[in-house]
Amino acid sequence: MTHEFDLLVIGAGSGGVRCARIAAGHGARVAVVESRHWGGTCVNLGCVPKKLMVQASEYGDLVDDSHAFGWSSTRGTHDWATLIAAKDKEITRLNGIYVSMLEKAGITLLTGHARFVDAHTVRVEASPLAPHEAPRTVTAKNIVIATGSTPLRPDIPGAELAITSDEAFHLPSRPQRVVIVGGGYIGLEFAGIFAGLGSQVDLVYRQALPLRGFDEDMRAAMAEAITVRGITQHPRCSSSRVTKEGETYTVTLDNGHTLEADCVFFATGRKPKIEKLGLENTGIAVGDLGQIKVDANSQTTEPGVYAIGDVTDRINLTPVAIAEGHNLADRLFGNAPPREWSFDTTPKAVFFSPPMASVGLTETEATHHGAVDIYFTRFTPMRHTLSGRKERKTVMKLVVQQSSQIVVGAHILGDDAPEMLQGVAVAVTAGLTKQDFDRTIGIHPTSAEELVTMRTRTRETPAAS
Ligand code: NDP
Repeated sequence: MTHEFDLLVIGAGSGGVRCARIAAGHGARVAVVESRHWGGTCVNLGCVPKKLMVQASEYGDLVDDSHAFGWSSTRGTHDWATLIAAKDKEITRLNGIYVSMLEKAGITLLTGHARFVDAHTVRVEASPLAPHEAPRTVTAKNIVIATGSTPLRPDIPGAELAITSDEAFHLPSRPQRVVIVGGGYIGLEFAGIFAGLGSQVDLVYRQALPLRGFDEDMRAAMAEAITVRGITQHPRCSSSRVTKEGETYTVTLDNGHTLEADCVFFATGRKPKIEKLGLENTGIAVGDLGQIKVDANSQTTEPGVYAIGDVTDRINLTPVAIAEGHNLADRLFGNAPPREWSFDTTPKAVFFSPPMASVGLTETEATHHGAVDIYFTRFTPMRHTLSGRKERKTVMKLVVQQSSQIVVGAHILGDDAPEMLQGVAVAVTAGLTKQDFDRTIGIHPTSAEELVTMRTRTRETPAAS
């Protein structure tokens, strides 16, 4: 049977676009269908606008800090509408770049919502991006589902009164009092944004410390940094109800306490976006969380249909989706073996202020492979010796496998942590040893030089029994 396209990609987010472009570069006839935003979550409702807003939230403190360096500028007030308009302008520019990139690659762009008719046939119907689009049916030899994920709200009374990150990017004004539920990436990043812009923030999370899954020492350091940022933390609790009276919201916590706010924000995870995809018309299997089941090659249980990125709920990070999409296109249409990516050493960053970044194993994870040597340092970065913001610490931790002396984990909390960690991620991916770090000359004066000057072991931790 002949198909209209060699490859149809459903979803023009980071992973889908990379897959489409690489496939087109290999000579495949490619179409991409998008229902909402060119560029997907990362560009429109995620990484990019979030980072711009984090940057906006840091200027106030920088102005204050500059006084010790001789400047006499005053902080002034922040105008939320200006920030949102500037951010939206940049995103519109990026949307245009995505469209022109795809067009230049000779890819057919389809706007609308895609629904499987069968494993090789998709019906594209009207959607928010194309409300008046006439329905169209397309066929493709291979189909990639790259639809991403969407915020998940807890199943509690009044949950619909709260916003999620989707709405947070377009609030008409900045709420003066915000209750954020969730101690993961999004909860912390938005807590930092709102606090930096002047809001009173209450952060509610279920664990004793934020950021479950990160290294314990770093989680403790982050909890301190959150307090330093002026945010009130409510650990070990969750919300059981949200109500609204007039313009005031009340969040009832499961410990019986109540918090009042002008805005309640659920940052309680995301779920794979599979609604109305017509998966029932195919043999595609879905897991308990709605994630499309795939093998290591992104192959679903339906031959010829693949899935990449958040919709598979593996490592839900933009660069991972891009790598998965790139690999898949190479495998399907390239004439050389696909590149090998080191997913085991995928670096992660939480853009709080200060940010935190990690690569490799936590101390606890590493002890499951044997005893470890821990190198830990905590210091006031040079800028803050003068600014007086001495409580804004930088924390670094190296986790070294004792038997081999290989650095299996590196964790940094502090200004520029993600920028510092990207290079360290190369070293950890390469399996370099502590001696390799030791023989590397530092760059002085930087915070990063501490990574190669931690000569004395802080402690050793025995293997987990
Ligand atoms: P996370 O999984 O990071 O955090 C979810 C938080 O919500 C956790 O603290 C979790 O608690 C809590 N939670 C879950 N369900 C409930 C509930 N019913 N009631 C109360 N609390 C609840 O999800 P996010 O939404 O923050 O982000 C989604 C994903 O997006 C991230 O995991 C990451 O993959 C990606 N992302 C990456 C970013 C980056 O790279 N900088 C930025 C933003 C998102 P508990 O720990 O107890 O389960």
